[in-house]
Parts: sequence; structure tokens; C-alpha cells
Amino acid sequence: MVGQLADQFEIVGLSAHSRVSDLADAARQFNVPMVTITDPQCTISDSIRSQFPASTKILTGNAGIEAMVTDPRCETVVAAMVGSAGLFGAQLALEHGKPLALANKETLVVAGPVMMNKARERNTPILPVDSEHSALFQCLHGADPASIERVVLTGSGGPFREWPINEFGSITVEQALKHPTWNMGPKITIDSATMMNKALEIIEASWLFDLPADKIGVVIHPQSVIHSMVEYVDGSVLAQLSPPDMRLPIQYALTYPARMNGPAKRIDWTKASEWQFYPPDPQRYPAIELGFEVVRRRGTAGAAVNAANEIAVSRFLDRQLPFNHIVPLCQDVLNRHPFEAEPTLATLLAVDQWARQEATRWNS
Ligand code: MG
Repeated sequence: MVGQLADQFEIVGLSAHSRVSDLADAARQFNVPMVTITDPQCTISDSIRSQFPASTKILTGNAGIEAMVTDPRCETVVAAMVGSAGLFGAQLALEHGKPLALANKETLVVAGPVMMNKARERNTPILPVDSEHSALFQCLHGADPASIERVVLTGSGGPFREWPINEFGSITVEQALKHPTWNMGPKITIDSATMMNKALEIIEASWLFDLPADKIGVVIHPQSVIHSMVEYVDGSVLAQLSPPDMRLPIQYALTYPARMNGPAKRIDWTKASEWQFYPPDPQRYPAIELGFEVVRRRGTAGAAVNAANEIAVSRFLDRQLPFNHIVPLCQDVLNRHPFEAEPTLATLLAVDQWARQEATRWNS
């Protein structure tokens, strides 16, 4: 994306966990002055050093993230790490008043109360990259909260939209990793198959746009062309559309409030097309109700469910947990976790750790 808008952006720093050679490719392509490798197992050997341009400073761990985020050349932080690992850099950006382009939904799911307070204190914008939230952000466009009837998140329904529900217990890893419309990493692909991804997005939308559970709806839309909608009190519905292509929400978060020509695919209006909508079946997608429950409980609930889900997904990928036990595991950890209504970041991280342990030893 930055490659196409090279005159608009300069990359000050990049991070990767263990994909060092991809990081080195990007560092060479964009002549990046700083990179951070976050995998604690990785030591910076000469052979790693030699993959990077001589001018690139190679940093490690949270100290590296801190150096990059706080560097005066850095004006916007894009948070795209998987899971709760992204929290540190995201909160640092908000503390330093740097606009946060947020692709990591776990940041708000886990630490919504803390992050939104930090954003308010420093008057720092959080610009959603998640396609549904980018759609809502575009359709809301600073609307008076009293004029919003509700927002409607769309979801493709994943690969098991028409699968017999009584066969969910025998879904294999390979079947769950085949997503009909988006090509993504394994964690988010499994989350899309269970619809836990939509649950996390319900929670994310609630924090981002300050919405209670009864102002958020979900509809299954298999074509993934309408990325979400806002229904206003007069009955008018605004939607944001585009072919599924993540480059568009990424670009808008970076160019906001401007719109620039970019590489994203376009809708071809000369071809006939059909868009379908289905209400989500709660038996097929129990994760959605779990998402609403977290929004109603608030506080530490998101941290508990997110951590439980991360472990449940990795146990499923390791073939240690049946597909249809992922959501019940999360529900059980949510029910038993030490709830706090106004948690600090330390409390949230403690709940995260507790939920991971519980999810690791959970048996149905
Ligand atoms: Mg999304």
C-alpha cells in the first residue's frame, strides 16, 4: 500500500515477531531506519544482521517497540500485531498523542476501558483498520450519537454457513482454515469460522463508537461487499461497499480525512451482481451472543474471553480441542473469571494470564 503512495508516506519503523526475512525484505524495499524483532528466542546474529541494509537499526522486544513509537519522526502508529501482544505499542502511541491506526482488534477487546480513557485524555484519534469498523467510521462520519438507531456489522458467515450443525464436532483444522472470501492468518481464519471474530468485532465496535449492546446488530452477508452499515433514527441506512480488499481500510486509516487514489479493487457496476443477507442462527454461531454478553458486562469480560479464545484456537489447531468446544470453553472461562468493573491495565493483564491457564487445562 505504502509502495503505491510512496510520495505520501515514509516508514520510520517496522516490527515482526519471528518472520525476520520478510522484515528484512520490507526494510530493504522501503529503506526503513529502524526495525524491531519481538520474538525473545531470536538473537541478533551476524547472519540476521547481514539480511538488513547497513543503515537499518535492529532492535528487540518492547524496548524496540518503544523506541520506534516514541521516535519524533513517527507521526502515526499502525498496530497490527496478532493477539494481546499488540497492547504495549498501542497504549504507548495513545500516551504519546500519536494517532493509532488499529488493525489489532484485541487491543480494544482486552483493554477497551483503559485504551479509550487514554485516547480521551490525550485527545488522540483511534482510526479503525478492521474493515467493518472502517465502514462504520466512514458511515458515521462524526454523526450526533442521538441520531444513531444502531450499527449493523456484516459477516461472511465463514466456511460453515451451510454445514450441518450436528457435524460441527468433527470439523477438521483443514476445513476450518478454508475461508470463502478473505485470505488471512490462521488465528483470524479460525475466529471467522467460529464467528468469534464477529464477537470480538461487536466488542471492538462497542468501545470504539461508545455503543451499548442493543445498538449493535449482526447480519450474515456472504459476498463481503457491504462491510457494515449505520441505521439512523429516521430509518435511513448508510453502508460502505467495496470488493473485499484490506488495502482500502488500511489506506483510509492512513490518509484520513483525505481520500487518495489507491490500489484497492473496484466494484464493476457493468456486471450483474447479487447481495444476500441472512440473520445469524444462534445455534450455528453461539459466539455472537457471547460477544453481546461481554459488551453488557464490560470491565474485565473482554480480557477473559479474548485470552480463552487465543488458547482455544491454538488447542484446536493442535488438534487438542474439537471445533465446537471453542465457544463453550470461552463462555465457561468468562463465567468463572474474577470480574472487575473498572480494571487497570495490570488487572486486565492478570485476568488475561488467569484465563490462559484456565483455558489450557479446560476439559468439557
Ligand atoms: Mg473484520
